[in-house]
Amino acid sequence: ARTAIIAGNWKMNYGPQKASSFSMEIIPRLGPLLRSYQEIMCILCPPAISLCSVREVLDAFPTPRLELGAQNMYFEEQGAFTGELSPSMVSEMCSTVILGHSERRTYFGESDELVNKKALAALKHGLRPIVCIGETLEQHEAGKTQEVIRRQVQHSLANFAPQQAREVVIAYEPIWAIGTGKAATGANAGQVTHLIRQLYREMYGQEAAEALRILYGGSVTSDNTSEFMAQEDIDGALVGGASLKPDFVEIVHKTI
Ligand code: 13P
Repeated sequence: ARTAIIAGNWKMNYGPQKASSFSMEIIPRLGPLLRSYQEIMCILCPPAISLCSVREVLDAFPTPRLELGAQNMYFEEQGAFTGELSPSMVSEMCSTVILGHSERRTYFGESDELVNKKALAALKHGLRPIVCIGETLEQHEAGKTQEVIRRQVQHSLANFAPQQAREVVIAYEPIWAIGTGKAATGANAGQVTHLIRQLYREMYGQEAAEALRILYGGSVTSDNTSEFMAQEDIDGALVGGASLKPDFVEIVHKTI
């Protein structure tokens, strides 16, 4: 069985002060849940500038299987890349890094090839990459979802060594479901995640495909999370809006 992951992507919300007060609100409540149930882990992904604030609260309330993640990173080791974070910097603070989120692909022009470089750099530094993929509304309506997902998996998730391939997490986030309040149906997300695992099996074999964690993201709340968790190929959620509210604790609660 795969350990479930509930990750909160705070996006560009909560600077150091607000991150601290919000963490004080949720971390003491996540503690008992995570302690009582071993088969789940939680990853908080605040803006990079707020990571230290959240870390301080975590240090004050040590909680098993509650980890920190970054929302992005560059693949180079160091040097003249103004505004970027290197893999080793991220790995000092975080276990995990979200890569290739659709907002990065759309607003910052990230390609599958760039995302793949970042994923390889993350793995090299012992970071767990959560690689995001998903189709637009237009592609969805044109019946192109499978084709788009195939291309993204094959290009964003290429060239992993066998040992690396099992560490990877994929988040399936249909773009039309992000921040819209219109989540996919469990059945629909179940179908696409099944395809993702199948594609991964073709690339890396049975063992890696069985170890691969696939998350669903897109308007997840405590009201619909169970519907996604019930799907065979969905191992958790990447939560946006609801991760900024106490509802995040409820989502974790419902997953248990
Ligand atoms: P929402 O949960 O706000 O739809 O965002 C999903 C997302 O993009 C998580 O990465």
